[in-house]
Amino acid sequence: MSAPLPDPHDYDLKALLEAQRAYFRQGSTRKVAFRKERLRGLERLLVQRSDDLLEALHADLGKPALEAYVSEVYFSLAELRLVLKKLTTWAKPKRVGNPFYYWPARSEIRNEPFGNALIVAPWNYPVQLSLSPLIAAVAAGNTVVLKPSEHAPASSAMLTEIITEAFNPQHVAVVEGGPELGKKLLEQSFNYWFYTGSEQVGRLYAEAAAKSLAPVTLELGGKCPVVIADDAPVERSVERIMTTKFFNAGQTCIAPDFVLVPSHRHEAFVKAATAFLKCAYAEEPKENMANIVNDSHYKRLQKLIPVEATRIGDDDDETHFIAPTLIPYSNWECPAMQEEIFGPILPIIPYHDIDEELDRLRRMPSPLALYVFSERQDFLEAVASRIQSGSVCFNDVIKQATNLKLPFGGVGHSGMGRYRGKAGFNTFSYERAITKRWFCKDPFLVKPPYADKLSRLRKLMK
Ligand code: NAD
Repeated sequence: MSAPLPDPHDYDLKALLEAQRAYFRQGSTRKVAFRKERLRGLERLLVQRSDDLLEALHADLGKPALEAYVSEVYFSLAELRLVLKKLTTWAKPKRVGNPFYYWPARSEIRNEPFGNALIVAPWNYPVQLSLSPLIAAVAAGNTVVLKPSEHAPASSAMLTEIITEAFNPQHVAVVEGGPELGKKLLEQSFNYWFYTGSEQVGRLYAEAAAKSLAPVTLELGGKCPVVIADDAPVERSVERIMTTKFFNAGQTCIAPDFVLVPSHRHEAFVKAATAFLKCAYAEEPKENMANIVNDSHYKRLQKLIPVEATRIGDDDDETHFIAPTLIPYSNWECPAMQEEIFGPILPIIPYHDIDEELDRLRRMPSPLALYVFSERQDFLEAVASRIQSGSVCFNDVIKQATNLKLPFGGVGHSGMGRYRGKAGFNTFSYERAITKRWFCKDPFLVKPPYADKLSRLRKLMK
């Protein structure tokens, strides 16, 4: 049992932001060496406290240690190490040319920090989705206020301990709490707003950012479809889809939400998917799969499961474990197809006419990710060009989002803005244009009176 979250009124946010602004003005965070030194401290602590983090993630979500290690600890460390390796290069000013009539001149682009950034994180990957934007914001030279999710209190407490040891609060501070604290943050003025979570709450952060005329990144959710072509190998496709769908009990924003399968291959697909679930979860389902985060999500998910669903094991009201579930004969009207599932339930919809299905997907809100399985390049490209999404993975799922060399983010209803690796550094900095000139005579200066200078100018600037 973790300690209760602090009272939101205990935080003097105004004083904290004043202190962060003063610290930013004083200039330490502008030095790349300083940023790297602080990030190295964070790296050391993450390694030292990795077992504590795994314990916290188990307490919050019953995450299997393997899943927690790979997706939260290792992934955060991998990004941190990439940033440490590349930061000096990314932060170097980039020389650009000048029009000849500016001669002599030197121009360059400098990536500059915005100032103070707010990062609001969700509960499903509470460590990774807090640390990834935080690493990027610090790497770019900002000060940070991080609010982890109240629904993962043990992870929130552990993050607070680690971050308080790694940074001074004028540089990076953690504030713990739920919507009440969130509302207080919305009243403050930040230079960058970074929000991950639901669309409904995301709008509040976008409005607050607009009030302070500050840029905002919204990492939201949605229903990520899987489209199977009639030539896709069934066994291999099933193995890839199922492994990822049930990771973290389906509580992954880019998890496959539902699968469209050609009707003549539907039976083979369902048979392979059922066999996969039995093999993966029949023995020790509760050891190998996370729990649902809280009672309201647990009850919401149970309402999405029809009686004819295929289920491996039983649900557990106490731990909020939901047995892995397939809805083999699903359709567009069933409850699971009316909202983002965000749980271990996979509807499989047989289809006859691919054009009809693609038209329907095109009219739905743009998802974070689109997954297409086929041996035919023209089919893969045709689906990708008809359905807008934040990212695409052909013949697998989630790989596009775990490659730190690719940017991550949504489009339309699934969000705006990008981060991860260099994309994160770019997000938390702006490109400042700098031109320097010298005091020698200007050979090309055009000044009034203009007289007949236009005709001479035209010859020069054709
Ligand atoms: P949520 O919107 O309930 O909470 C996210 C954060 O907002 C939390 O820190 C919470 O305390 C805060 N918050 C909640 N209500 C608030 C209010 N009224 N005012 C101010 N702040 C408030 O979202 P969630 O349930 O934690 O996350 C689930 C959703 O997030 C899903 O839709 C999922 O797809 C999406 N998600 C997206 C990504 C991504 O990277 N795009 C990652 C994870 C989750």
